[in-house]
Amino acid sequence: MSTSKNTREKDECLDKTIKQLLNIKDANIRFSKEAVSKEKVNGRMTNIFTGILTYKIDRCPQCGFTNLIRHSYKDSWIQLIPYQEVPSYLHLFKQRFRCKDCGHTFSAKTYYVAENCYISQPLKFAIAIDLKKKISMKDIAKRYFVSSKTVERVLDSFFEEPRLKPNFLPQHLLIDEFKGTKDCEGAMCFIISDADTGKIVDILDDRRNFKLQAYFMRFSFEARKRVTPLVMDMNAAYGAVTKIVFPNAKVSIDRFHVIQQLTRAFNKQRIQAMKQLKKRDSQAMKDYRKLKKYWRTILKKSAKINYTSFKQYPLFQRKYHTESEVLDHLLSINEQLRENYEVYQDLFTAFDAKDAKAFFELVDHLPATLDAGFKKAILYLNKHKRAIINSLDFPYSNGKLEGKNNLIKVIKRIAFGFRTFRHLRMRVLIQQNICEII
Ligand SMILES: [Zn+2]
Repeated sequence: MSTSKNTREKDECLDKTIKQLLNIKDANIRFSKEAVSKEKVNGRMTNIFTGILTYKIDRCPQCGFTNLIRHSYKDSWIQLIPYQEVPSYLHLFKQRFRCKDCGHTFSAKTYYVAENCYISQPLKFAIAIDLKKKISMKDIAKRYFVSSKTVERVLDSFFEEPRLKPNFLPQHLLIDEFKGTKDCEGAMCFIISDADTGKIVDILDDRRNFKLQAYFMRFSFEARKRVTPLVMDMNAAYGAVTKIVFPNAKVSIDRFHVIQQLTRAFNKQRIQAMKQLKKRDSQAMKDYRKLKKYWRTILKKSAKINYTSFKQYPLFQRKYHTESEVLDHLLSINEQLRENYEVYQDLFTAFDAKDAKAFFELVDHLPATLDAGFKKAILYLNKHKRAIINSLDFPYSNGKLEGKNNLIKVIKRIAFGFRTFRHLRMRVLIQQNICEII
């Protein structure tokens, strides 16, 4: 495609304006007074800036001789950052050169767009900046009128996977797991974070023991020796690995998980009580619905029950009651449930007071009449006695890690359609500022 005479003639005023607007700092690109137009491309209105790229060149990059001639222009379409939500292109005519000595032909180059690339550098940079924000890759693609593949390519080219620092491991490690992307080798991914800062150190696509061992063994013995408290999930079977890789670690269980274990066990009792009521008679069905609706009241710490303010409770004929009255009614429905409730609350209180002795005393002396399933769930805590005692001693909890897991959930939700774990990991690390733009 050839350029018209008008396009070749630089218009000083417009040239300056357009360059400011498009952030072009290359003096070899120039714009004429006919540079700006609006055209429909693929049925969509598009801003088009038509420019020329030309300059003097002394030597042939191939043979080094100076016998160069300029010949035609080659046009290229370079996508820009959308202007006022309208896709925008730089229609750039690049000067072609030919070497008379070796016959080599080539086009003029500019920093503004990489060779053989149709996306301007500023657009790539804008995408890279957005990758640091909590926006899905899909939305970024939409915002800039590019494909998801382009966004992934920017992710790959602008960010480097951080290299493992063998001498660095946080002193206070938190470990946990989460469900990963489809291409993960293991069903669950593994997350390592720093208990002091709450910062994610790394995520791994496989939590199986041999993989974890291989990963941690890449750190120096010194670094591993420094790790002392190690907080983890109660159901996690990492004990064997952690003993090998962290010689000084005292394993502790996230306090939140202990509470969760208790709450889940008691909640099962609530559901069991409901099942006994179902479809018996209309009065039983009323109680069934109450136990179903007011689960929050029965599960929460009794210290947090409100005894003073009156509220309308829809299932109590819309009469005004205090929360404690509602609780009393719920517990009166089933005698076994009341007994379970008392044990549940006592354990809760001892745990909250960080009184390990009282807590395990309760665990060891459960009433003989307690529901067998509930008893079993509580006795399970004995299996992790040491770790639970540690968790009450340490000032750390997985709370921060839970927060980070929520962060990952958010990332996964907004980044729905991550095809690869690598991209997920990169985005998590980018958001943690572990990956910087290179
Ligand atoms: Zn040459």
